[in-house]
Amino acid sequence: MKLYNYMEGAVEEILDEIISKTQGVCKCNRCRLDILALALNKLPPKYAVSDKGINYTKISLLQRQFNADITRTVTEAIKVVSASPRHNN
Ligand SMILES: [Zn+2]
Repeated sequence: MKLYNYMEGAVEEILDEIISKTQGVCKCNRCRLDILALALNKLPPKYAVSDKGINYTKISLLQRQFNADITRTVTEAIKVVSASPRHNN
């Protein structure tokens, strides 16, 4: 048995969805991780116990308000990181 913070998987999944639909967002690993860190610091952790990992997709279908909050937070994080990206060019 292990403790998981399924907010991490949720934020990652929603970030990838937003990035695929939005033009002009840097897709490099540094910017992606900066966006994830910024969003996860603003969202509450959601812990669950499992021995097989957490299937976020099954949880998310039941929690539309949860998704709306994540989408808003991730969108804000994308704006912040895009305004001053920390990748090296
Ligand atoms: Zn970048």
